[in-house]
Amino acid sequence: MAAADPVEVAGTGGGRAAPVLAVDVGGTKLAAAVVEPGGRVVAYDRVATPNGEGLDAEGLWRTLQGLLDKVHADAGFPPLGGVGAGCGGPMTWPAAEVSPLNIPAWRGFPLRERLRARYPGLPVRVHNDAVCVAIGEHWRGAGRGRSNLLGMVVSTGVGGGLILGGRLVDGASGNAGHIGHVVVEPSGPPCECGGHGCLEAIARGPGLVAWARAEGWRQGGQDVTGVELASDARRGHPVAVAAMRRAGHAIGVAIASATHLCDLDVVAIGGGVSQAGALLFDPVEEAFRAHAWMAFARKTQIVPAALGQTAGLIGAAALILVQDRYWNAGD
Ligand SMILES: [Zn+2]
Repeated sequence: MAAADPVEVAGTGGGRAAPVLAVDVGGTKLAAAVVEPGGRVVAYDRVATPNGEGLDAEGLWRTLQGLLDKVHADAGFPPLGGVGAGCGGPMTWPAAEVSPLNIPAWRGFPLRERLRARYPGLPVRVHNDAVCVAIGEHWRGAGRGRSNLLGMVVSTGVGGGLILGGRLVDGASGNAGHIGHVVVEPSGPPCECGGHGCLEAIARGPGLVAWARAEGWRQGGQDVTGVELASDARRGHPVAVAAMRRAGHAIGVAIASATHLCDLDVVAIGGGVSQAGALLFDPVEEAFRAHAWMAFARKTQIVPAALGQTAGLIGAAALILVQDRYWNAGD
């Protein structure tokens, strides 16, 4: 596309003809991409999220701007059709003043307003990062062609997003799909949200690691995460395997409740903990089958997410590229 080409809004499907700059702000990494109208990623880069002592909001914003400039340059500076961003919650929505739990430098940071000022004249849209993963999996991943999907991310936290009738469901405040705080054990462990026995309290990576350590797994190891736990499970470490069973059981119970409520076609599970493969998915399926007895619920398929680390970026781009299905908040 020549630099002078106008940004065009396609006549069908609400898609835009120009590529979109996609942003994914997480506690571990900042990632960015240029995504073509069909969903192909043409430039991608990531940096570790700076989170040191003394880091302020503006320092983090400068790092993010540098990353965005780099991927735009790597793609050959195409004219952009918009900017879509996923960010860890909580946030106000759709204004997107963000306070990501794992990024203390940003508290009430006006991400959408800053991106708008940086890319004047372009639509800029921000949604929860797990919602963007669910959108990506629905549009171009494991839920492609299906109308009703729950997308789940099981990593440092447990997040999700909900597509019903082929469209993203936002809820009253942009928080629909928050499956991490569905209660699976009413007298279970305390959750960061203040409650007890939420799915997230049991199945989040750090929760599993803490449980496994108490059971004797890698008690001296520093900075071990759910990813190492998943890989030890694949190597057959009995405590790691038991931790995955514990997570899988909780996830399966939560999915049984979710599909009775929402009548889902498919549940796609991604995130670091899901890398345990069958060691996680077998107990998920077993617990799901033990709790889902209505015929419509039992037909729900539970599958691994298909897009890997670019799911959130592809979903963020779809906030612009497929706005008729995935963006319900006006401009
Ligand atoms: Zn909770």
